[in-house]
Amino acid sequence: MAVLREVTQALGEAVAAAGRDLNFMHICGTHEAAIARHGLRSVLPKGLRIVMGPGCPVCITPQGEIDAAIELARRGAIVATYGDLLRVPGTGGSLESCGGDVRVVQGVHKAVECAEGTDREVVFVSVGFETTAPTVAAALASDPPENFSILCCHRLVPPAMAWLLEQGEAALDGFLLPGHVCVVTGYREYEQFPVPQVVAGFEPEEVLLGLLMLTRQVGEGRAAVENAYPRAVTRDGNPRARALLAEVFEPADVEWRGFPVIPGSGLRLREPYRRYDAQERFDIRIAPTPKATACICDRVLRGVASPPDCRLFSRACTPRTPVGPCMVSHEGACRIWHQFRGDAA
Ligand code: SF4
Repeated sequence: MAVLREVTQALGEAVAAAGRDLNFMHICGTHEAAIARHGLRSVLPKGLRIVMGPGCPVCITPQGEIDAAIELARRGAIVATYGDLLRVPGTGGSLESCGGDVRVVQGVHKAVECAEGTDREVVFVSVGFETTAPTVAAALASDPPENFSILCCHRLVPPAMAWLLEQGEAALDGFLLPGHVCVVTGYREYEQFPVPQVVAGFEPEEVLLGLLMLTRQVGEGRAAVENAYPRAVTRDGNPRARALLAEVFEPADVEWRGFPVIPGSGLRLREPYRRYDAQERFDIRIAPTPKATACICDRVLRGVASPPDCRLFSRACTPRTPVGPCMVSHEGACRIWHQFRGDAA
């Protein structure tokens, strides 16, 4: 508690020294959960705001990819996926309601096990950032059975940050960088961005320390990448995981929910692994789909709206009756704000 008080007080002094309002973004559902669970927004000094960006991998998966997964199930494949993805609405229903053989797995290794035990086609819906992609790469590099494939829905964080900075829609003063992603990738790639950035851990004092370091950078007129999570993150990350990623995947131009196609922001399988690509195997194309509800997940994911700005929040849209993905996933801002209510704001 003493540390928390000390950091909070220093944060107040740093915001006063900066002399203007500050708007920082984090890109990680675990950061949002930590902020909400510990009521950190309630102790932030006036003039300091932290918003969540596109940090929930399930939430940023566009409707077209959900529709493709549903189509695979309807064509008779066993679709294996994380539980969080089951209830995300597609154009005409969800994986949970599609009537196909959809199985919840803890990870890609369980989906491979499933394929080893059957002659049927098994497709793993492979979502996630740089954090989860290396385990998928490792599975594909270990010769999984030929009836196994993935629907590749991975996304990379830095290209989305580049897009957000280029658009300037959210008027951001800096980023709290995602600790889990940086464990894998390190933070060298983020040094290209001309704004304050701090890699932060997930304990309440680590989040506040990250905000303090960001605020001090602004006050001192600096823009650097600093590491407030050195017990887990190094500048170069995990070389083995990065090598696996580079061996199996290559960057691809993909759409994010709430964003247009962002160059190099996704992953696709390199040629030697293309036989595990479910899109090619089943000749499925992912089509852009227009939004058909009043859901403002797109704006929430770009950091220009908060969950209570949505007129459906905690009314028509709840975890039991989700209208958008941000209310489905445990890492979604709407679900987290609904769970922690006043503490989140
Ligand atoms: S409250 Fe529901 S409908 Fe509104 S933005 Fe969040 S997920 Fe979408």
